[in-house]
Amino acid sequence: MQKLRFLISALFLTQFVFGQLHSHKASKTLNYPDIDGYITLKTDLHQHSVFSDGDVWPTLRVQEALRDNLDVISLTEHLEYQPHKKDIPHPDRNRSYAIALKEAAAHDLLIIRGAEITRAAPIGHSNAVFISDANALVAKDAVTSFEMAKKQGAFVFWNHPAWHAQAPKGNPIWSDFQDERIKNGELHGIEVINTGDYAEESFALALKHNLTIMGTSDIHGLIDWDYSEKGHQRPITLVFAKERTKESLKEALFKGRTVAVFNSLFIGKSEFVKPLIQSGITVQKVNYIANTSILEITLKNTTSSDLLFENEMDYNFYHHPPVFEIPAETTLILQVKTLKKLDALELKLKALGAYIAPKEHPIIHWDIKVK
Ligand code: ZN
Repeated sequence: MQKLRFLISALFLTQFVFGQLHSHKASKTLNYPDIDGYITLKTDLHQHSVFSDGDVWPTLRVQEALRDNLDVISLTEHLEYQPHKKDIPHPDRNRSYAIALKEAAAHDLLIIRGAEITRAAPIGHSNAVFISDANALVAKDAVTSFEMAKKQGAFVFWNHPAWHAQAPKGNPIWSDFQDERIKNGELHGIEVINTGDYAEESFALALKHNLTIMGTSDIHGLIDWDYSEKGHQRPITLVFAKERTKESLKEALFKGRTVAVFNSLFIGKSEFVKPLIQSGITVQKVNYIANTSILEITLKNTTSSDLLFENEMDYNFYHHPPVFEIPAETTLILQVKTLKKLDALELKLKALGAYIAPKEHPIIHWDIKVK
């Protein structure tokens, strides 16, 4: 009997442990809604492993991404910087991708082949993703690397242009090199958020040159240590794709359908930030408090970001101050003093954590019907 009980509990324990391992889910996964006409893909397209200057094996990157509920990752090893080369000789620059691809095979995670073209300022660092062979990008001069990336049909973005090691004022230094790459169709995006650093100046450059807006973790250590344990989420790029495929993702990146997200911060073009936040808030219930003209609107924040709003309506709130927060994945009952009973109300809130241009917040509308 004792033996049987042990066997049963051991069985449950095994199931529990393996169940946990198999799901790979962390306690707080990243969730953002689809927007009208598009599927929202959660991506982190700038990461490192021991195959360049990272500290982990590529399989760990896959497991971290699964825990965070990401849809897409790319391991973008420095082509020109391999500090672990003595211990891990690896002439084939595609190895990191191959190992990640194998690890992800049993899971619903897309792995994109990428590499980081690494140079001093003013060229800086750039990621080429959707390449077909990283080895062919290793070249003496950066111009050739960019040419080869284009030949492979790559989507290329400028990494951390505001990085203080290359831009001592913390402001990106634009040069002829970037102008020429854009003219040649060899540069398509720019990081506005890297490792949690948001550069407004990089955002301005993205809008000025019509570059795709990117946010990435640029993780070298562990996501848990560098972000989660500090109470942060990893920076990601939400990509609005027609389908959940590599081809659709690539099309969306070239078309610039993205929003960079870090914790409560959303950076993107108005046409994508607005529907994203609008879809992120669900109106669950609408009713007047008995014998009053105070309208109660139950709002659910379905995203993983705390959303900060400011009232933009002529009507005032009863309970909340004009600036209020709906924490991630929670519900809030807003009480609006409509002065008389209405059949419908246009709820108008400014999203204070979101930017559609430097220093400019979007105003989000919801059509509220009173039953
Ligand atoms: Zn990097």
